[in-house]
Order: sequence, then structure tokens, then C-alpha cells
Amino acid sequence: MRLFPSDRYPLPLPDGHRFPAAKYGFLRRRLEAHAGAGAPLVFVEPHAATDDELLRVHDRAYVGRVLSGTLSPAEVRRIGFPWSPALVERSLRSTGAAVDAAAAAVEDGVSASLAGGTHHAGSDWGEGYCVFNDTAVAARELQARGVVRRVLILDCDVHQGNGTAQIFAADSSVFTMSIHGARNFPVRKHPGSLDVPLEDGVGDDDYLRALGRALDESVTRARADLVLYIAGADPYEGDRLGRLRLTKAGLLERDRMVLEATRGAGLPVAIVCGGGYCADLESIVDIHAATMLLAATL
Ligand SMILES: [Zn+2]
Repeated sequence: MRLFPSDRYPLPLPDGHRFPAAKYGFLRRRLEAHAGAGAPLVFVEPHAATDDELLRVHDRAYVGRVLSGTLSPAEVRRIGFPWSPALVERSLRSTGAAVDAAAAAVEDGVSASLAGGTHHAGSDWGEGYCVFNDTAVAARELQARGVVRRVLILDCDVHQGNGTAQIFAADSSVFTMSIHGARNFPVRKHPGSLDVPLEDGVGDDDYLRALGRALDESVTRARADLVLYIAGADPYEGDRLGRLRLTKAGLLERDRMVLEATRGAGLPVAIVCGGGYCADLESIVDIHAATMLLAATL
């Protein structure tokens, strides 16, 4: 399975910033160790998303302000990262990684970006640690290449995929499913094709029951040629921001259900990481690594 890491383009964050940026490097090194022990993983440098790719999804003026460092202070606050040339490069690489993973999935059946899941970015805004919407760009780019016609985005990050829903609100060729905490960020949730809001404190059993129903409905209604799976680590019971109570075993069962419903139907699947805000970085890496290892060996 080809994996596209972006951590060689680090996120420059000020001291005291709570975003766990170190998880990306830890995840790559954990998976490199598995590859060294025989896991079928190959690491490939992602390309930087091009203007053409970004502009299939994002407003030209917004892209221009990101690239040139002329975002307003309010726009920078909404994104949550200070602007820097390094932030631009990282955002372009992690978006390119989703495009590369989607293209690799079509060829190989499954692939992954070791970052991304930047689902809060809408057509003309960034938000909640998301600058560009990587799965939206990947969906539109693969369509533009004529590789796929219809795309299913399965968003299992604990936060609702508001940006993705806004981008595809008037585009029936991309089906957006989000299963998330009802009371969690973002406050304003753009309705997607299928939204599954869950109450605070939901654990493995209730989550997996709801997910099973949502997967059946999504795969049937989407009639997709490609699946993009946002495998957030933030529904985990130890997450600082998640408000749900899934165990690591429950999250792995989630991954198994998603992959069986999609790969089992013959659909290529590209995985992106999504969020993970547990104070214990090892736990975040455990969850993401388990997703990738399951996908590589199914
Ligand atoms: Zn999240």
C-alpha cells in the first residue's frame, strides 16, 4: 500500500500551541518500523497541490490570500495556525497527498495520506486547523482527470464535515456522509448528503450500530467509483475535544466496517487521517497506525 506522508514539511507552531503536530512524524516512523518488519507499506513523497487543483474547489481570491500571506487577522484566527510560508507549503503538500492517495487507490485498491482530513475548509474559508479541503480537492481532481465520475466521502472524524458539505451542496456527483458529535465543533453545520449526529458520551456499540446503517445507505445512494475515508482518531474516549467514548478496539472495528463495506463492494478507498487531540500522542499514533495496517492487509 502506498502511503503519502507530509511531515517533512512541518507545521510551524508557536510554543504552547495545543495542536499535536508531532503526531505526523511519529505516525510515519511507526509505520516505517512496521514496513521494516515486513508490512506491505511503501512511502512516497506527495506533490504540492497545484493552483489548477485548488481552484476546482476553492475561490480564487481566498487561494490568493493564503499563498501571498494576505489573509485578514480574523481569517488567520479562524484557521487556528499562524500564517507562514511553511504553513502554505505544508497545506499544499497535505492536499497534494490526498490527490496522490486517491490516484493510487484507483490503481491499487487502497492508499493513504498520512495527514489531512481538512474537512472544515469551505470554498472560500479556512477553519479549525484546515486551510484547504484535501478530500474535496482530491474528488474534483480525479473527476477532472476522467478517472472517476462519482465519489463518496465517508467522514468519521468526530467533528462534522461542514466545509465538505458546503463545497458539494449543489454537486450531486459527490456524496458526503458525516458521523459526528452533535454538540461538537462546528457550531454551524452545513447539511451534507447524510449526517449522523451523535449525543455526547456515545460508546462503541451505539456508534457502530449507527455507522452500519449509514454505510449501507451511503454506498447504495452514492453509486461511487471512489471512496475517500476520513479516519479521525478523535472519537476516541481519551480525546480532549471529542466528547464521544470509543475505545481503540471500537475504532478498529469502525475501520473494518468501513473497509469491508467499500473494498468489499470493489470500490477503491483512499484514507486520510483526520483529527486526534489526545494528550497522549502514542494513543493517537496507535489509532492511525492501526487503520493503515488494517487497510494494507485486508
Ligand atoms: Zn476532528
